[in-house]
Amino acid sequence: MTETMTGTPAAKPALAILGKRNLELGPFEIDEAQHEAGPWAHWRMRTDPDGIVWLLFDKQDAGANTLSEDVLAELNDVLAKLERDSPRGVVIRSAKPAGFVAGADIAQFRGVTDVAELEMLLKCGHAVFDRLDRLPALTIAVIHGYCLGGGLELALACDCRIAVEDASFGFPEVLLGLHPGLGGTVRLPRQINPIAAMTMMLSGRTERARGARRLGLVDAVTQERHVRAAVRAAVDGELRRAKPGFGNWLLNSKPARQLLAPRMRSETAKRAPRVHYPAPYALIDQWVEHGGSAEAMQQAEIASFAKLLVGDTAQNLVRVFFLRENLKKLAGGTWQGRHVHVIGAGTMGGDIAAWCAWQGLLVTLADTNRNAIGGAVKRAAQLYGKIGRGDRRRLRDAIDRLTPDLRGDGAANADLIIEAVPENLELKRKIFAVVEAKMKPGAILATNTSSIPLEDLRQNLTHPQRFVGIHFFNPVSRMQLVEVVGHDATAPEARAEACAFLGRIDRLPAPVKSAPGFLVNRALTPYLLEALVMLDSGVKKEAIDKAARDFGMPMGPIELADEVGLDVCLHVAETLRGSVPDMPEAPQWLRDKVAKGELGKKTGKGLYDWKDGRAVKAHDDAAPPADAADRLVLPMLNACVTCLREGVVADEQVLDGAMIFATGFAPFRGGPMHYARARGIADVRAALARLAQQYGQRFAPDPGWDSLG
Ligand code: NAD
Repeated sequence: MTETMTGTPAAKPALAILGKRNLELGPFEIDEAQHEAGPWAHWRMRTDPDGIVWLLFDKQDAGANTLSEDVLAELNDVLAKLERDSPRGVVIRSAKPAGFVAGADIAQFRGVTDVAELEMLLKCGHAVFDRLDRLPALTIAVIHGYCLGGGLELALACDCRIAVEDASFGFPEVLLGLHPGLGGTVRLPRQINPIAAMTMMLSGRTERARGARRLGLVDAVTQERHVRAAVRAAVDGELRRAKPGFGNWLLNSKPARQLLAPRMRSETAKRAPRVHYPAPYALIDQWVEHGGSAEAMQQAEIASFAKLLVGDTAQNLVRVFFLRENLKKLAGGTWQGRHVHVIGAGTMGGDIAAWCAWQGLLVTLADTNRNAIGGAVKRAAQLYGKIGRGDRRRLRDAIDRLTPDLRGDGAANADLIIEAVPENLELKRKIFAVVEAKMKPGAILATNTSSIPLEDLRQNLTHPQRFVGIHFFNPVSRMQLVEVVGHDATAPEARAEACAFLGRIDRLPAPVKSAPGFLVNRALTPYLLEALVMLDSGVKKEAIDKAARDFGMPMGPIELADEVGLDVCLHVAETLRGSVPDMPEAPQWLRDKVAKGELGKKTGKGLYDWKDGRAVKAHDDAAPPADAADRLVLPMLNACVTCLREGVVADEQVLDGAMIFATGFAPFRGGPMHYARARGIADVRAALARLAQQYGQRFAPDPGWDSLG
């Protein structure tokens, strides 16, 4: 299957479902009959009565258009024909309803090692786009939906770009440890303000049609029904084209580039250190050095892209892309339900309800406390304001779908019931007894428990087979991963339905077995507790956090504990200590802090003081002890191996994906197990054994390492 930057899976042939969207395809008609055999597999060409050639890109056997070697080879052939025919104008348009081009076919990036071969391929790709750029006829890209990466490079090689209102543009390569590689770094800073161009490429952010028009990236924004008129106007020279001005030229001059670069580097450094993420720095360096000459920039782009792609960071981030795809696939088929009933409108229940409503489901939200429901609805409105990018209608509709339900009547009609009341076995059991009596046949009952064994929770259920754990992480709107927890009596269909539900609400399911801490908390807790042990032994908290960040974690463990809430951490640690041998005990001072209500970010004071949502850190550059990163990270890896050995998680791929998408585990390392394998299983095991000798049995290597090496 073709993979894309957006992860759009291959789907039905495009023309079969075009009716829904009614794309303006010029001389092509929207029906299956257009699938006549032509000289090319991915491109179709026809001339309209005005003498304008319409070139449709419709990648064979794929739901989304992506650029691959064969697609570009065919385009080269098409261009040779167009050079001979010299039409008045050429329209390039996607025949896929969802969008223009989603980027390069990422499957091609996997396991690439030969720089010279890669450079040769890139040069061929560049030659095709340069040929398009030089075509004497006026070339017009008509763009709907996504226009990303190589797709945007294709559009930039055209003379003119007309966007349909829903179009969005971006260069997400940086998220894969790359920068644009088919001329984007050359053409974008020439087409639009170079600062905006660099920001787009450095951040990977997308720009919507109107924003793109303001930037001068597109010449016109129009509605689908006016596309044909806009094309004619462009060919007749009546469309005002976005032309780069003197300002662009000035900002691309050498002194300006040299002046602007340091700021770009320092802004980049805030998000991605150079040692771990070389791509954005390579891009800035190239622009500063070669931005004055298109030819030199092109050569630099090719060399740099090839070097980056064979490097560890890009290869690991490409792996992460496929780890996500793997988790997405676990969602399986389409969830048929419409109504979710959530019990408990606290931190988790409130946010789960809000997220489900945002994703288009009907939600009833029950709680014994009226104020909790009110608070949850208020938080939902705030969240929608943030993530809705000012889409007031979507906000209103989502709020309308979120129904407060003090009496809990929604349970009778819901397809899925999610319980999120406090972590108390008796309370949860009582609720299940009431709810099970009301549930409609076939509905699924789920718990969001983080630590109570599902085997205990299911004890008195009449239908334990339809009971499952759906364990969200906090904050629900940001944490993409959700554990789906089975138990000894869960029916496979119930588990599959829970996974499909998560796919429906745009979350990634990781199936795990009911075991202490499941997977994620089981692996994360030793890491957090080791940080507390280090703190106790006098290492500064800033130094501990720095060690983890230097390893590549988005946040250090001390800050993370405050973010999660010290009460939650303590609870999980205590539960795990009951069942996991050698788990360090949480220190007394942590209990005291929790008793005093110093719970971390949510109360403004925890291990750090918190101001305006940020931890107040001493500006102290005390270097962490040399073994700090190993002391923190290796216990996490050790717990991962335990989970694999005990069958808590099916395989290393699901495990790596889960740890990255639930904890942010250094993505450029490709996941904990991938890191262990890259470093060497024997080396990791030996390091654990050394740590065990020095600091105690809690580091003793799990027997599971023996079967990995
Ligand atoms: P919370 O204390 O914030 O909210 C619980 C809500 O349940 C409260 O609003 C309370 O009024 C309500 N409630 C109590 N008894 C009820 C009843 N009989 N019927 C209906 N509502 C009732 O708790 P939380 O942090 O949202 O945790 C909920 C569950 O999610 C727990 O099982 C917890 O282990 C799990 N969890 C929590 C987190 C987290 O970070 N907080 C993360 C993952 C999972």
